[in-house]
Amino acid sequence: METNGVRRVAVIGAGPSGIFATQALLAQTAFEVEVDVFDRMPTPFGLVRYGVAPDHTGIKGVTPSLARVLESERVSFFGLVEFGRDVTRDELLARYDAVVYAAGAGEDYRLGVPGEQLPGSRSARAFVAWYSGHPDATPQSLAGVRSAVTFGVGNVAVDVARILLADPDRLSTTDMPQPVLDELRAHRVPDVWLVGRRGPQHATFTTPELRALLALDGVALDIDPEDLAVTDDITDRRARGNLEALRAAQGRRVDAPRARLHLLFWQRPVRFEGEEALEAVLLERTALGADGSLVGTGEVRRVATQLALRAIGYRGVPLAGVPFDPVRHVIPNAEGRVIGPDGVAAPQEYAAGWIKRGPVGVIGTNKSDAVQTVGHLVADLAARPPVFAPGDAHAWLSAKGVRASTFADWLRIDAAEESLGASRGRDRTKVATWDSLTSIALDRGED
Ligand code: NAP
Repeated sequence: METNGVRRVAVIGAGPSGIFATQALLAQTAFEVEVDVFDRMPTPFGLVRYGVAPDHTGIKGVTPSLARVLESERVSFFGLVEFGRDVTRDELLARYDAVVYAAGAGEDYRLGVPGEQLPGSRSARAFVAWYSGHPDATPQSLAGVRSAVTFGVGNVAVDVARILLADPDRLSTTDMPQPVLDELRAHRVPDVWLVGRRGPQHATFTTPELRALLALDGVALDIDPEDLAVTDDITDRRARGNLEALRAAQGRRVDAPRARLHLLFWQRPVRFEGEEALEAVLLERTALGADGSLVGTGEVRRVATQLALRAIGYRGVPLAGVPFDPVRHVIPNAEGRVIGPDGVAAPQEYAAGWIKRGPVGVIGTNKSDAVQTVGHLVADLAARPPVFAPGDAHAWLSAKGVRASTFADWLRIDAAEESLGASRGRDRTKVATWDSLTSIALDRGED
């Protein structure tokens, strides 16, 4: 086939990893490149939009630089295009020199304890999706919730606890959908528990996130001082920082607290109880066995609760036809080069972000991760001639009957969110339903 020497790369997922990979492709000088970025949402930015908590405006501050990548003339954004449904692996491999999978981690883990299916037991992921205005989210009712328990002591648990405990007036400056803000305002939760199965020195939350939680106005901290009497020589910077923050907060006095944050360490859930809905969780005290593994001590306590949110980690899901490691829940890869079932690197396929290395690290971690993947992609492509004639994915998709949205369509959603916010005296309010998103995206004012 004739080519003009331009390499064409498809990126699956317009979250931070996909966009960082695109940015790295634009920055390389080995060859000219055009990048088509596909996402099932009409809104780019993935977890920055739908995972980073609405009040974390500092972290969301990366958005303009991600947008600049998608604005490049050499990049096209195709929203409302789902991999496996609207475009297949074989189609992409036939049309592009390379495909980068950056689809993130679309599921979460379950605790696997009896009673977990009771109404009131939910995933933190669903809760995050709700307060982030994801159109797939189920509305989360807080009516009747006097006590909420989160399992896991990572940053997701901290986010969820902070949103539950924050003063709603402060949240009104965020882009949260109005019904979410109304729900949080109408039903304040006076007791929030964070339950870790190991000690504070093992917690995976980061110190700035922990400090922000501990600094909430009017919230008293309840923590067992014995959990903080860690005598081990802690060398890990994060663990030291977390212990310092907890020790400092423990001694703080809060007069007439409006809510309480309970930090429970060395406890694991053994059973959820309730007649028709969750009423309590049973927790067993844990300890480290001689070999360093976690063991139960048999000492059980009961915490009354109407809402249990598991925040025990996300996991990747298979992409149709793409190799998948069902144990690690990632695409098998060597530094981003996808490894096929034969153990050999697939010539055109690469992975970046959480689907490459698992759900760890902050947004910025994905930048160096994407640079690593793209480094290999560039070396591979530079060593072989361009294979495919450049083609227009717009024409290809419409011939297939796929109505894709563009970056310009996203800008209309963006503007609509600003006007919706202004109509309520807020800077911005998320558009949170599929109907509204697709009608704004696809109503281009054409005849
Ligand atoms: P995470 O940091 O891996 O935390 C998972 C937590 O769940 C750990 O405390 C883990 O305890 C616990 N856990 C796992 N299985 C369990 C079980 N069966 N029973 C009880 N507890 C269990 O994951 P995450 O909070 O989902 O966060 C994912 C990534 O996103 C992290 O890298 C995080 O830093 C990042 N993130 C960052 C921000 C931010 O920067 N603001 C916000 C949100 C998320 P063990 O350690 O004992 O396994």
